[in-house]
Amino acid sequence: MTNSKYGDYRFLESVGLMFDRAIREMNLPPGLSDQIKACKSVYKIRFPVKIDGRIEVFTGWRATHSEHRLPAKGGIRYAPNVNEQEVEALAALMTYKCAIVDVPFGGAKGGLIIDPKKYSIEHIEKITRRFALELAKRGFISPSRNVPAPDLGTGEREMAWIADVYRQLFSTDINHLAAVTGKPVSQGGINGRTEAVGRGIQYVLREFFRHPEEVKKSGLSGNIESKKIIVQGFGNVGYHTAKFLEEDGGKIIAIIEKDGAIYNEQGLSIENVVEYFQTNQKLEGFPDVTFIKDGRNALELECDILIPAATEFQITSNNADRIKAPLIVEAANGPITYNADEILNKKGTVILPDIYVNAGGVTVSYFEWIKNLSHIRFGRLERRFDELKGEKIINLLESVLNITIDDDMKNAFTYSSGAVELDLVRSGLDDTMRQAFQEIIEIMYRGENLLDYRTAAYVSAIEKIARSYIEMGI
Ligand code: GLU
Repeated sequence: MTNSKYGDYRFLESVGLMFDRAIREMNLPPGLSDQIKACKSVYKIRFPVKIDGRIEVFTGWRATHSEHRLPAKGGIRYAPNVNEQEVEALAALMTYKCAIVDVPFGGAKGGLIIDPKKYSIEHIEKITRRFALELAKRGFISPSRNVPAPDLGTGEREMAWIADVYRQLFSTDINHLAAVTGKPVSQGGINGRTEAVGRGIQYVLREFFRHPEEVKKSGLSGNIESKKIIVQGFGNVGYHTAKFLEEDGGKIIAIIEKDGAIYNEQGLSIENVVEYFQTNQKLEGFPDVTFIKDGRNALELECDILIPAATEFQITSNNADRIKAPLIVEAANGPITYNADEILNKKGTVILPDIYVNAGGVTVSYFEWIKNLSHIRFGRLERRFDELKGEKIINLLESVLNITIDDDMKNAFTYSSGAVELDLVRSGLDDTMRQAFQEIIEIMYRGENLLDYRTAAYVSAIEKIARSYIEMGI
């Protein structure tokens, strides 16, 4: 079925076609690809909530795309236009994402039709708690079977409520904290989860620029320094991505939000923009920039790197041939339709795909889940021990070489040098993103046809999932 507005396939079919394109490059036993592609179950739920004395009925879903690894993992989206095929498509992306970064989870996704802006915090809490109760009592929230996380329209606040509902319902489950990730750190969350997708993208781009022969395909060179970057979406993912790339020397020349886009060739100060955006809830009126009322047009501006970090279906067959960026980094899930992807591939645009690029979120969710199951903060046991080891090495060097090491250098190896949780999370995330990139490149060059990044990433995911089905027996 097509999306009538642009003639593009719908999200679910679009993901399916990307999957099929990868399958054509592989040699899987017949039927196995159908099993991997199919969404295993979708649970639809309608529930009532009393809002200011009136009963309102809400509709939500939890789609479980795969269970070859358990728990199945994926966020819960709150949006007024979320629908079943969208949730299914997002659940499929979760399956592939987890496989690519070796996170041992199946794929799932939840959605609730709601415009959070239209409700008070108290109402959102009431609705979230009821939704969580309906899901948890049927096994759709569980540390061992199905673990939600934040997505569009939800954050650590909602995750804390969900965790509380699960704990009340299953108070004897010693692992209750692991029933949901993306919680506030004070409620069993992990340091570094909030910014994980943005941090992951920083690591992806650092790794990409470590491969000059790959960078050459986009016509770019060097590293992130001074690259002109456009970011679409200034929520959690867009903001953190922009902030970290700015820290690495990138120039954020445009930011696109719902009310329009702001543009300045010299680069925007991300801290100034975020301050303005938080106060005014819009970009219009931000000083010393060109304001573009129809923000989508800014996707077509001249730049080095385009980062769609908002929602799906932003680059379609309608605007794909006008996109000038030589490199697109998909921070959002599904921002480029299948039809647009084909057009961009023909043009030679290099696309680093969502199922790899934004996997930092679920990677750090995995760390949080492990932390919750092990009931101890990462680094708690070894931090002081590592400091002591540093001190011993310093003392040894001083006595054997008969030198005096200056205090600054000494401190770097001793005082506060042991890793805290955030250091370990960053190290694990960096390693994960780098390793996955190398696996994807390996696949790109291995066969007769040189593959694009997306197809290679799908092949990487499907191979790992197929192996697990074959070994496990269907
Ligand atoms: N919603 C996020 C995603 O699309 C995070 C999922 C998770 O942490 O489970 O990847």
